[in-house]
Amino acid sequence: MTAHYANIVILTGAGISAESGIQTFRAEDGLWENCRVEDVATPEGFVADPDFVQDFYNQRRSKLQEKGIKPNAAHLALGQLQAKFSGSLTIITQNIDDLHERGGNTDVIHMHGELLKVRCVVSGRVVEHKGDIVTGDLCSCCEHPAQLRPHIVWFGEIPLEMEAIDLAIKNADLFVAIGTSGNVYPAAGFVQSARLYGAHTIEVNLQPSMVENQFEEKRYGKASVEVPLLVEQILQMEPESE
Ligand SMILES: [Zn+2]
Repeated sequence: MTAHYANIVILTGAGISAESGIQTFRAEDGLWENCRVEDVATPEGFVADPDFVQDFYNQRRSKLQEKGIKPNAAHLALGQLQAKFSGSLTIITQNIDDLHERGGNTDVIHMHGELLKVRCVVSGRVVEHKGDIVTGDLCSCCEHPAQLRPHIVWFGEIPLEMEAIDLAIKNADLFVAIGTSGNVYPAAGFVQSARLYGAHTIEVNLQPSMVENQFEEKRYGKASVEVPLLVEQILQMEPESE
């Protein structure tokens, strides 16, 4: 890493929130908080048992808002980067928590949805929602009010804001993946696109990811340690500002 950058794209995954106590889906055993992914994170699972699925996300939503759940040093460093970096910074996250926002980032692209939002199953309208939702909680957007569901991209559904993501990656001169396993597509393919478009690529993770060979630079360790270091280095490369 030697150049001064103008367009930075940062992709974050479960690894950045793990140190804040947020558990996510584990690819190794297909479980999320001891529930089978098929049951709680697919459209079929929702049809089969809507109450169970709503309750699963109600618990996750409530846990996210507990006092002890806070952004860690990695989130805070990315907030600092946004505040101080003179170029364009795009944060794309696979996480459904709001820890980036609480760490100071705005306009975060949540490609897999957000826990603190719900949407109408008919119109797709998204609204902020911090409490529980149950079967029978209806929207206020449709002529015949329709059921609300978690604003989460389930397996088999199309990730959000793919056009904006493609554009950001096309323009990136630095692409960093933080805490991503590299086994969930399309996010796992972003590094390849970024390289094709000429970006320098850095992986920050606890251990080599499934796509580690795609990255030019690798930094292995805790996100709360490695991310602040990286941010400091990026900001040191900035031209002197008064
Ligand atoms: Zn509606």
